[in-house]
Parts: sequence; C-alpha cells; structure tokens
Amino acid sequence: MKHVLAIDIGGTKLAAGVVAQDGTIVSKGRVPTDVPKGPEQAIERLNALCRQLMAQAGNPEIAVIGIGCGGPLDPRTGVTLTPPNLPGWEDFPVVARVEKGLGKKAFIDNDANAAVLGEHLFGAGRGYQHLVYLTVSTGVGGGVILDGRLYQGMNGNAAELGHLSMSYDGWPCPCGSKGCIEAFCSGTNIARRARLTASPRLLELAGSREAITTEHVVAAVREGDAAARKVWDDTLEVLGAGVASMINAFNPQRVIIGGGVASVGPLFLEPVARIGLARAMKPLAKGVDVVPAALGDQVGVMGAAAVAFSHL
Ligand SMILES: [Zn+2]
Repeated sequence: MKHVLAIDIGGTKLAAGVVAQDGTIVSKGRVPTDVPKGPEQAIERLNALCRQLMAQAGNPEIAVIGIGCGGPLDPRTGVTLTPPNLPGWEDFPVVARVEKGLGKKAFIDNDANAAVLGEHLFGAGRGYQHLVYLTVSTGVGGGVILDGRLYQGMNGNAAELGHLSMSYDGWPCPCGSKGCIEAFCSGTNIARRARLTASPRLLELAGSREAITTEHVVAAVREGDAAARKVWDDTLEVLGAGVASMINAFNPQRVIIGGGVASVGPLFLEPVARIGLARAMKPLAKGVDVVPAALGDQVGVMGAAAVAFSHL
C-alpha cells in the first residue's frame, strides 16, 4: 500500500496528513498559517508538523507529497502568484521550500482543483469521467475533470467557475469583471446583500446590521422571513444559472457542490439543481445529477492527497 504526504495551505490554517492509497488518513494535524509572519516561517512550521505526522504514522515510505493551496498559482513551477487569501505569499516557491525541508518530490495545485481530484478519487465523483465541482464558501471556486483527467488549461488556472460572469453590466467583482458568481453568491456576498435589506428578524438574530452572516440568512429563511428569502432565492437563481452554463460548457455526467454555504443541505442543493437542470440545454441536462460533495471537512487533506496520487 502506497502512502503520500498531503498538505493543505489556507489563509488561516496549514493542515497535513499521511494518507494511504485506499484513502485512509493515517495521521493528521494542523498549525495556524499566521499570515502576518510571512511564508518562510509558515513553511518551517508546516515542515515540522509534517515530520511529526510521519513519525506518528510509523514513518511509512512516502511516495510523493501533494499540496493544495489557495490560488492563483502555477502548478508547473510550484510558485504562488497573487493569492488573495495569503497576502505576502506573492511569487513564493512553495514546492521548492517543501521539497528542501522534507527531502521528497512535491506537486501542487490550487485548492479547488485539488478538491475535484479528491472527490474524483475518494468521494462523490468516484468512477466518473466528466465532472464539474463547485465550492460555495467564503469564495466560490471550481474544478473540472474531463475524460478522467483534471482540466488545467494553458497555465494551470482553468475552471475559475466563481468568476463566470452572469450579468454583463452587473455587480462589480474584485477580479476586475462584473456580474461574477462569486461577487453575488459567496458566503461573504450573501451576508453583504442581506445587510443592505436587513429585515427586523435578521437584525434580531444577528444583534446588529454589521453582524449579519449567511448563517443568519439561512436561519431567517427557515423561519419564513420574506426579506431573507429574497436574498436566498436570488442567490440560488444566480447559482442555478451558473450551473446551467457549466453543464452547457463541459457536458459533465455529474455536478458536485461543496463548501460551507452548500452544507446547509436541501434548502440549497435542491433549488440549485432544479434551476441548473431546467436552464441547461436539454440534450446536455439529460442524465446529469447535481449532488453534494462527499469529503466534507476532510476535502483539504484528501484533495492534496489526490494531487499526490495523480502524479504516481
Ligand atoms: Zn470575478
């Protein structure tokens, strides 16, 4: 049984695990990213954690290291570009630093691409050849498997599905475009829109306008609050239209949706699936299912493990 070391680099935590070929996590742990202290120190903490986890696992032979990291990044050079969640990590050679510290070959991909590889190998995408993966969380990310392989595009940054534009003159997005899915449907932006129309019930639940979060919106929707319902329904309408565009673009067998916002369950998934399938072109919508992600909280480490296994 082969083992890999899986590393998940995020804006708040660095998680790692020793993962066996059958998907068993033999050991796992995490340390804070501590972004203000910079990437060099973070990688030192990470490498120390990895040595500890390998010892805990009984020092199995590690075939290769897989890393999932907030993008954008260049998977061929192993260098981060301008990751918005990791300020100070611009043009940082993550792969070279990890390889130097741990003495093993390492491969990296952005966290959403790692996640679709993880779902494909260990989760809801097992056995499928054509997959679209969407994560709706603080941001909105995506990954695509075509013909059984991760679709990376010209420079490894394909499938930025959160920045599909749903409205040519729509809401502004920090990426520079307008009408992007993320700028409307991310957890951050659901909360921002709810604050604009803060209903008495939302204010009561949150305590103040500024304190309103997506969780409050969901709670108010479940209680039948009309203003929260409007914010929620608009979100699902845009996401559903986005899913239809993804089905039309990639002709997948399955659309997998993960992330914190999606984890509210049928209140989220059923309308997005219904709208997405109704709006996609009929021959492409036929036979597609829209399902929740299976890896849940483990997606970071399992995705990174899948990055590693995809190189064996
Ligand atoms: Zn955008």
